[in-house]
Amino acid sequence: MRVIGTAGHVDHGKSTLVQALTGTHPDRLKEERERAMTIDLGFAWFTLPGGEAVGVIDVPGHRDFIENMGAGGGGIDAALLVVAADEGVMPQTREHLAILDLLQIQSGVVALTKADLVDDDWLTLVTADLRAMLTNTVLAYAPIVPVSARSGVGLAQLTDTLQATLSQRPPRPDLGRPRLPIDRVFTLAGFGTVVTGTLSGGALQVGDEAEVYPAGLRARLRGLQTHKTKVERAVPGSRVAANLVGVEVNELHRGMVVAHPNSFQPTTLLDVRFRHLPDAELPLKHNAEIKFFLGAAEVFGTARLLESDALEPGEQAWVQLVLTQPVVAVKGDHFILRRPSPGATIGGGVIVDPHPKRRHKRRAPEIIAHLATLLQGTPGEILLQALTSLGLVSLKAALHKSGLVDPALSEALSEIRASGDLLTLDGETLVASRQTWQAFANELQGALTAYHVAHPLRAGMPREELKSRLGLASKIFTAALNHAEGLKLVILSGAWVRLPTHAIQFSPDQQTKIDALLADFQREPYNTPSFKVSAAQVGEDVLNALIELDQLISLSSEVLLTPETYASTVAQIKTYLQTHGTITVAIARDLLGTSRKYALALLEHLDAQGVTKRVGDERVLK
Ligand code: GDP
Repeated sequence: MRVIGTAGHVDHGKSTLVQALTGTHPDRLKEERERAMTIDLGFAWFTLPGGEAVGVIDVPGHRDFIENMGAGGGGIDAALLVVAADEGVMPQTREHLAILDLLQIQSGVVALTKADLVDDDWLTLVTADLRAMLTNTVLAYAPIVPVSARSGVGLAQLTDTLQATLSQRPPRPDLGRPRLPIDRVFTLAGFGTVVTGTLSGGALQVGDEAEVYPAGLRARLRGLQTHKTKVERAVPGSRVAANLVGVEVNELHRGMVVAHPNSFQPTTLLDVRFRHLPDAELPLKHNAEIKFFLGAAEVFGTARLLESDALEPGEQAWVQLVLTQPVVAVKGDHFILRRPSPGATIGGGVIVDPHPKRRHKRRAPEIIAHLATLLQGTPGEILLQALTSLGLVSLKAALHKSGLVDPALSEALSEIRASGDLLTLDGETLVASRQTWQAFANELQGALTAYHVAHPLRAGMPREELKSRLGLASKIFTAALNHAEGLKLVILSGAWVRLPTHAIQFSPDQQTKIDALLADFQREPYNTPSFKVSAAQVGEDVLNALIELDQLISLSSEVLLTPETYASTVAQIKTYLQTHGTITVAIARDLLGTSRKYALALLEHLDAQGVTKRVGDERVLK
């Protein structure tokens, strides 16, 4: 089970798209529908073509409601960034993208909605603009899929792309330490208290004792549902509704966390690595008031800058956050900071120590060094960072780049092998981290999607063109492509590469011309229109596509036959050869009642196919 979250500028068609994908309108309540605006986290789901269920969190787009983004963002596997093709990139598109980046949402797909409102030239322009915006963000290589919820065009391609993207995501790890950040609380007749959220870190089981943090309330899990179906056990990465006994609705609120008793220690002090957004308006001052977002929690606090008195936009720094209320936080969690008033996202980062012992002395080199070591992590984490920074590389290069030596090196290797973060592409030497592979897979799919859109009548993208487009060395390209084929991300056939979803489709106008041409072929099977004549009739692209699709067989650069004629001709020649041993061009011509040109083209074709062999002026069966 997977969870995706939408992001994007208001009115760009998020809710409409979610409705088209899932059949559920995210505006749950009547007044929400009346205001025609999503005011809280909507929730719907659909099933991918491959059968996996995907929950959709429709993160509201309106500025006033942007606070919800943290809640939606924390638990998602992939982002669905919605951009209306007619308007293109807008301020909230940028702000939401910045948040996805701060939360390090590693994968995503861009839906270019309302494609029905624009022409192809405009679509190309908007796509280029989008690509530029996505550069250097987590979505740098995200596929861009034009769709129209109105006409339905592109929706199948979008679900296929989502499936491909999600299939790349590692399953949510089960660390035996479940956390359910509450994003909604309500009562249900016959059940009592119900909370919903996206589960991470471990599984929850019906009957489990639970604690609601940070309040320290005890409860029991009476029932669990996921996607409106009762389950005994909810697994990490799924959307969960939990029926709690022992707590009242008025004791609970959004932002609290349901987990096993005594499994977390809520905290008000956090050491973090903070990234100040490049387009933040003001420097961040020491002790500035901030609003902190983690999971579904939003809490006021202050930011203690440990190295300086002010932080310019675009800078990174070590910061200690002092919160007014406790939160559940784990090392490695990503958070967002906003300025409380006027509200604006100022940055975010990663939690390095959720339980520092005290308020740190500022400008203390030993404290900074300690935090840097914590951030750097275990040998495995260091090697993984090296791998990720290099792209698809030889294992040797990654080991060298990590700067690790034994015994740390061996430890690092076994650590990332065991965690499944090290992917071996060609059996031994070529490797990638999951993250790099994901980036490559996205780029690959993006390149192919663009090619298919630009050349809908071609069976696929030429391998060589793809290779230079991706800028990879031959050996790495081959290994990566084979790996992608193994994962069914692409289909390789001869010199072509294509997406599994790509199929040549003719317009009604083209089909009419094709039918007329094929009728000509039927009429006189052995006196068929030449390539040139046929191309003039249907267009060269369409003719090539017909050959790709085996609707016409090309014997030579001039001679074309229908597959039926071709099959019966080959059969006739084979039968003749079986009884007579040899055949000449003249005999073949008479046998088939055709011209010398056709008979010759056919025999040369059969030679090339390895069916016959030329011996002097005659052919024999090979
Ligand atoms: P949200 O604020 O991003 O959730 O946007 P909505 O889903 O509410 O859509 C905003 C407006 O765009 C509505 O009037 C929709 O009917 C319209 N809209 C959404 N998708 C499409 C589409 O594919 N084509 C066209 N022409 N209009 C669309």
